[in-house]
Amino acid sequence: MVIIMRPGADRETIEQVIDKVSELGFTPHPIYGVINTVIAVIGDRTQEAMDTLGAMPGVDRVVPILRPYKLAGREVKPEPTVITLPTGVQIGGEAVVVIAGPCAVESREQFLATAQYVKEAGAQVLRGFIYKARTSPHDFQGLREEGLDLLREARALTGLPLIAEVLDTRDVEKVHEVVDIFQIGARNMQNYALLAEVGRSDRPVVLKRGLSATVEELLKAAEYVLVGGNQQVMLCERGIRTFETMTRNTLDLSAVPVLKHYSHLPVLVDPSHASGHDWLVPALAKAAIAAGADGLIVETHPNPAQALVDGPQSLNPQAFRELMGQLPAFARAAGRRM
Ligand code: PEP
Ligand code: MN
Repeated sequence: MVIIMRPGADRETIEQVIDKVSELGFTPHPIYGVINTVIAVIGDRTQEAMDTLGAMPGVDRVVPILRPYKLAGREVKPEPTVITLPTGVQIGGEAVVVIAGPCAVESREQFLATAQYVKEAGAQVLRGFIYKARTSPHDFQGLREEGLDLLREARALTGLPLIAEVLDTRDVEKVHEVVDIFQIGARNMQNYALLAEVGRSDRPVVLKRGLSATVEELLKAAEYVLVGGNQQVMLCERGIRTFETMTRNTLDLSAVPVLKHYSHLPVLVDPSHASGHDWLVPALAKAAIAAGADGLIVETHPNPAQALVDGPQSLNPQAFRELMGQLPAFARAAGRRM
C-alpha cells in the first residue's frame, strides 16, 4: 500500500506515520516529493492496517499498490525522479544528458585522451569501465584494480562525474570511492545480490535491461535496488535479442515511453550496444531523444580499429563531436534542453 501524506505535512507528523508502519510489522519506504510525501509500505496489507494508518494525522489517503513494481511505479510517485550529480548536472529533468567514453579503460593514454575530447564535445558524464562482463572468459576482462588510479586521474583532469560497471559485490566498495554512478550491466540485471549491494549505497545506479528481459522484469529488478533504500536508479534500454541479425541487438524504442508511462525513474538509451555499428549510432541516438529518453550512453574511442572491446560500435572523435553538435536540435524539437 502507499500512504499519501497531505501537502505540507511536517517532518514530525511524517515520522509518526513511519514509526506506526514499523510498529505494525511493515517496512516503510518514505519518498519525499516536491508536493506530497508518500510512504510506500511493503508487506501483505490488511484492511485493519490501512484503516489505522488512514486515520492518522497528516494522512490524506491510503491506497493499495496494484502493480508488481511498487517503488519504481508512478502509483507511489507520480512526479519524475530527478538525479543530481556532484557537478549539479541533473538526469531526469528538462535536459538530455550524454554519458560517453570508451567501452573499456585500456591504457592511460587511451583513457585520458578520450576523457578530454569527450568533455570538450560537451558530454556531462564520463564512462570508465575497468571490469568488463565479456561473453567469453578468453577476452579482455578490463584493467580491474589497476585501472582505479586512472579513473581518479581522469576525474581530476576533466571534473566530469564518472560511471563504471560493477560485476561483483566484492568490488562495490572499491569502486564506490572513485565513481559517481554505478552501472549494472545487461548480463547482471537479475544478479539480485549485486542489486541489493548497490541498493545499500548512496551512489546513483544505471540499471541496464537484460538481453532477453521484458520491461516488467527490468522494473522488478529496479525494485531490488529501491527496497535497499537507494532511490537514485536510472533505467537503460540497450537493445534486446531478437531474430534480427543486421544489428547487434534490436533497440526497443517503445520501451522508452512505456517505462516513462509506468515509472518515475529516468530512462536512458544506449545506441552503441543496441546497434553494434558506429554508423548506426547517430540515427538511434536521435530517435531515442524523440522517444523521450532522458539521456544517452555512447561509446567512443580515439582509435576504434585498435579498441580492445566494442571497436565496431565506437564513434571516433570526429564522429562523436559531429553527433554532439547535432543532438541539441533534436532535444529542442522534443521539448528538452541540451
Ligand atoms: C557496456 O556498457 O559496456 C556494457 C557491457 O553494456 P551491456 O551491459 O548493456 O552489454
Ligand atoms: Mn561496450
